[in-house]
Amino acid sequence: MAQRFLEPIAALSDNYVWLLHDGRHAVVVDPAEAAPVRAALAARGLKLAALLVTHHHADHTGGVPDLRAEYDVPVYGPAAEDIACLTQRLREGETVEVPELGLKLAVWEIPGHTRGHLAYVGEDFVFCGDTLFSAGCGRLFEGTPAQMYASLQRLAALPEATRVCCAHEYTLANLRFAAVVEPDNAERLAHQRRCEAKRTAGEPTLPSMIGLERAFNPFLRVHTPTVAAALARQYGHCPDDPVERFRLLRQWKDGFRG
Ligand SMILES: [Zn+2]
Repeated sequence: MAQRFLEPIAALSDNYVWLLHDGRHAVVVDPAEAAPVRAALAARGLKLAALLVTHHHADHTGGVPDLRAEYDVPVYGPAAEDIACLTQRLREGETVEVPELGLKLAVWEIPGHTRGHLAYVGEDFVFCGDTLFSAGCGRLFEGTPAQMYASLQRLAALPEATRVCCAHEYTLANLRFAAVVEPDNAERLAHQRRCEAKRTAGEPTLPSMIGLERAFNPFLRVHTPTVAAALARQYGHCPDDPVERFRLLRQWKDGFRG
């Protein structure tokens, strides 16, 4: 495997644009805005090879028109969403090939946050947009709880060392909610301390790892006795159906002000 560098580029207030490169060519995922991407490419002497988009929200696509005007590269994104700037519309099971990097990415449809949200699954990383966050998950704007639950379960089944490249720095807020759901989860507490130190130092908390998320992300843990007990505390009962548990947990988080 060619050498890879995976870097989050901060954009807008709390977005990350992911930069995957080999020191010469780069792929950029979810360019929220053009300027920080342009600066990152210039600082590293990289040539842009492709733009990838996970879903239609403006904080994931905003930089595409300006970058396209500057670099004549393909723009990949979901066929199921109305995104004007795409040149390649993708469906479940297709592959994105970037020959400059010797890179092949599997395309997964992971609906829930939006109707056609995609994940790009690579060698030991996944670009999951606003579906899976560290210690949390995206809001359900267009999809159903059943869709989002299935999408998260699918991501959770990736190998434990898979690097999770989420599109927002929401980790500390998510961990505050996770601490209410599972106050005694030692791995959550250890991760919280690591992430607090990183934020204090001005560093990103991402990428995370699938194995870590399985250990403390409550949205991947609705089957566990501890999350079931937390739902019972909050709602007076805990349903058996994992999708219903997920729906209640997401509803709880939507109203949570930690
Ligand atoms: Zn979004």
